[in-house]
Amino acid sequence: MKIMVSACLAGENCKYNGGNNRNEKVLKLMADNEVFTVCPEELGGLPTPRIPSEIRDGMVMTRDGRIVDAEFRAGAARCLELALQVQPDLVVLQSRSPSCGVKQRYDGTFSGRLVNQAGVTAQLLMKKRFRCMDVEDLVTIYGSFLIRKLCVEEFGILKDFLYEAIFIPQGVEAPARDIVEGPELRIYYEDFGSRPGDLCLAAETAGRVVGAVWTRIMDDYGHVDDETPSFAISLLPEYRNQGIGTRLMKEMLSLLKEHGFRQASLAVQKVNYAVRMYKEVGFEIIDENEEEYIMVCWL
Ligand code: SF4
Repeated sequence: MKIMVSACLAGENCKYNGGNNRNEKVLKLMADNEVFTVCPEELGGLPTPRIPSEIRDGMVMTRDGRIVDAEFRAGAARCLELALQVQPDLVVLQSRSPSCGVKQRYDGTFSGRLVNQAGVTAQLLMKKRFRCMDVEDLVTIYGSFLIRKLCVEEFGILKDFLYEAIFIPQGVEAPARDIVEGPELRIYYEDFGSRPGDLCLAAETAGRVVGAVWTRIMDDYGHVDDETPSFAISLLPEYRNQGIGTRLMKEMLSLLKEHGFRQASLAVQKVNYAVRMYKEVGFEIIDENEEEYIMVCWL
């Protein structure tokens, strides 16, 4: 993949204080992909180190009140020029920066408060339809697939992926799509994001989410106790058997560990081919009934 990244994430000392935001995930991307670094503020002619700036009333100002709007916009325009030349598949930017922030930036009061608006460069690149994301949402790149955190505004798609997760043995007719509205399946997605253990990663390619793995502490078939998140995972049919599911599972297990969970569980039908994948990533059978295994992975 061709990826454009904020230079400070690659370890370049272009941050306002002369330091950087070196990020291990970005460094890993650099090893396996074609990566171009840009620092819009330096490209706009600002020195390093420099006085920090924020956007107030649409105008970029330094903490001591100097207007640096022209420099910020010149830097953004230069980044756009480079992006048009390079045509990156993805642009990974430093979160919350007045230039690079994608989902949020500081509100202009220099008080640490945030607003749900993009920085100057991120805004311009997104307007020109470049796929931009905050580094905090990046998990990894797997072949041509971007593995990332799913945003709150996207949680609605979990219902569709839950339907895809229903195992339908060969020769059996698929159930109607509204099966996911039933109380025993609603628990997988209702108010998702509101509880500890509600974590979700997506696999995206060409701007489309093609797979999702999510966890929740819930009273589902795979429930073992009130401290253990249960897994749900599914991929659109045409993206199965390409290793994406295994990668999503592994990344989610790491994320759960980072969040301090000690184990994760799931239930799977004995005849489901996914049993092998679950074993591969570390799940073990701890219980079973006539149709299903209950599996646990110790983190
Ligand atoms: S402008 Fe962007 S690349 Fe440059 S230091 Fe700030 S966040 Fe990093």
